[in-house]
Amino acid sequence: MPTYRGRLAPSPTGLLHLGHARTFWFAAERARTAGGTLLLRNDDLDALRFKLDFVDAMITDLRWLGFVWEEPMISQSQRRPHYRAALERLHAANLIYPCTRSRRDVIEAAGAPHEGGAEDEPIYPPQFRPPIDGPLPPLGETITVNWRLRVPDGEALTFHDVKFGEQRAVVGRDFGDFLVWRKDDVPSYQLACAVDDAELGVTEVVRGADLIKSTFRQLVLFRALGWPAPAFFHCPLMNDDRGERLAKRHDALSLRTLRERGVTPAGILAKFAAESA
Ligand code: GLU
Repeated sequence: MPTYRGRLAPSPTGLLHLGHARTFWFAAERARTAGGTLLLRNDDLDALRFKLDFVDAMITDLRWLGFVWEEPMISQSQRRPHYRAALERLHAANLIYPCTRSRRDVIEAAGAPHEGGAEDEPIYPPQFRPPIDGPLPPLGETITVNWRLRVPDGEALTFHDVKFGEQRAVVGRDFGDFLVWRKDDVPSYQLACAVDDAELGVTEVVRGADLIKSTFRQLVLFRALGWPAPAFFHCPLMNDDRGERLAKRHDALSLRTLRERGVTPAGILAKFAAESA
């Protein structure tokens, strides 16, 4: 068995809140009990939403809570050549295609509102998928069109989640052809995350249960790229007192605000430990 290597992967798009802290606490506990290590990955690819100030805030908040990571932080924006290399492999294997449909085209053709919520892509209509006939157009040095992965429709996928047990999805029903690269020349979260987890030697991914569907997409990518998949531990999501999911807009529960109000890290962590006991 390889030594346990986990990761904390916050996105610097807002202040971290209690829900993030709990996910990271699970990740740290998993690493600690396995005698392994944690790395810190800064998911800063989304230039539209990302703000530099939040990177500093994120590091300060993680340190305040007592999380430790053994190596210098890895920023996804510094790893573009790795994502590009993976994209080129998918292109050479004819597993992707350029997609010129707009988001509106996709939403209209996909019909019924999508269950996955705003964070999830609508299912890409198979009628929009080009036939496989001949070589793909080149990627070009600067990418100006969306590229999607052609998923194996109808295939049943399963994985064992360390927390929730067996998880199942049917390709084409639960998710469709998804973006691997965006027309603003930015790798998609799915591609960057799969490349990083594989290349940085992550043995177990700990993240929120809202990403279970993404895990299936990433399993398709691991397979397409010939990499073994890590183990997965999805954390139950945290709701506020009105039963609504915590999101970054809940500033009242940002770690910043809690700290200013005199809440202590020990108090926060003790609560997580008690809840999960
Ligand atoms: N950066 C992502 C987020 O904050 C997490 C990605 C992951 O854990 O795979 O939602």
